[in-house]
Amino acid sequence: MERNQDQLWERAQQLLPGGVNSPVRSFRSVGGQPFFVDRGQGCYLWDVEGNRFIDYVCSWGALLLGHSHPRIVTAVQAAVERGTSYGAPTPLEVALAEKIQEAFPTMERIRLVNSGTEATMSALRVARGYTGRDKVIKFIGCYHGHADYLLAKAGSGATTFGVPDSAGVPPSLTQDLILLPFNDAGAFQRTMDQWGDHIAAVIVEPIAGNMGVIPPKWDFLVALRSETKKHGTVLIFDEVMTGFRVAYGGAQALYGIQPDMTCLGKIVGGGFPLAAYGGRKEIMQVVAPLGPVYQAGTLSGNPVAVTAGLATLQFLQETHPYGELDEKGRWLQEALQSAAQKVRIPVQINRVGSMMTLFFTDQPVTDYESAMRANTRAFAAFFHAMLEMGIFLPPSQFEALFLSIAHGSEELEKTADAAEKAFEKVALLIN
Ligand SMILES: *Cc1c(COP(=O)(O)O)cnc(C)c1O
Repeated sequence: MERNQDQLWERAQQLLPGGVNSPVRSFRSVGGQPFFVDRGQGCYLWDVEGNRFIDYVCSWGALLLGHSHPRIVTAVQAAVERGTSYGAPTPLEVALAEKIQEAFPTMERIRLVNSGTEATMSALRVARGYTGRDKVIKFIGCYHGHADYLLAKAGSGATTFGVPDSAGVPPSLTQDLILLPFNDAGAFQRTMDQWGDHIAAVIVEPIAGNMGVIPPKWDFLVALRSETKKHGTVLIFDEVMTGFRVAYGGAQALYGIQPDMTCLGKIVGGGFPLAAYGGRKEIMQVVAPLGPVYQAGTLSGNPVAVTAGLATLQFLQETHPYGELDEKGRWLQEALQSAAQKVRIPVQINRVGSMMTLFFTDQPVTDYESAMRANTRAFAAFFHAMLEMGIFLPPSQFEALFLSIAHGSEELEKTADAAEKAFEKVALLIN
């Protein structure tokens, strides 16, 4: 196996667009070239040249138990020996669906799929099929996977009809998308007053995580629930990132707000390609083969992925690590905050439990617009300084960093020490 990363990067770029299989991995927004992973264990990653990193990407939040957790490894090894895919029902799928429903009682019926993108794409199709309406409200800066008709954010102004954010998406596919600012209950209320009876679904990350972490305002969440109920609009919580992360029952359990449909991914697959969508029984009954909304998958409910998901959820139920994760999160947040203060670098750290983002800005970050005020040059300098000291942060200012149960006080302290030095470097750059 090739162990020279410069050569690997050369070869990768000859074949894979940008050298990667998913864009943020390329380090485009922070500059430089990514390292190539050899293996992961606990909260550590090793690159192919033998360098070790404390990992705060954790497969973009999928690994709440850290890398190669023994419970998952053992379960998956046994599963693989029984065959890797059947295309026929298994008892494992039933068990996983039951476990998911225990955590998310609002998911009265559940369909397993292979990625978060598939979950949100399917949930929207179901919501449109169920309501017979076309229009969908999405919030600016929320990411719901890369399905064509969800790939739009805003132009400017409050209510904008969707303009595709990606080449290759015909405007006709996003014309039924209404884009609104996150956390703006007033703008939402006005739009529902005008369009509510034509709107099939409102899809939202109940805690935004894909423009950096932005917690929801309470009145915003309440407006989402009450207005959608009033107009017969399906409220979809995209909990692909927050499900089993901010609480076992996700953001909906944390805030006590019940959506009509929920999308899950990341943690629910225990590090394997597995996701799920589901919701109220009468809505989900439109899904084939019961109803007219088609949705299928060759590898859906894959026994190996389902086994990893089951092992993860079982472990989480046994150990319930959420209090501890929140404590670690708070410790790291405070350590980073005071390290930045020492060298007078203004930062805003948004955190919910074990997910957080350190924004290089002096203004509170509450929506996409305020997130965009962050100093990305400062972030890039911070990112590279941390990486040099063996700390792997998400390579973009607008992503969440994740803690796992494997991050111990030793690693957190190392991270805090490294951050002090990294902030000093940033200070030279921006002050
Ligand atoms: C990661 C993510 C997705 C997309 O999931 P994939 O498995 O990458 O397709 C969708 N929604 C949210 C909130 C996510 O964080």
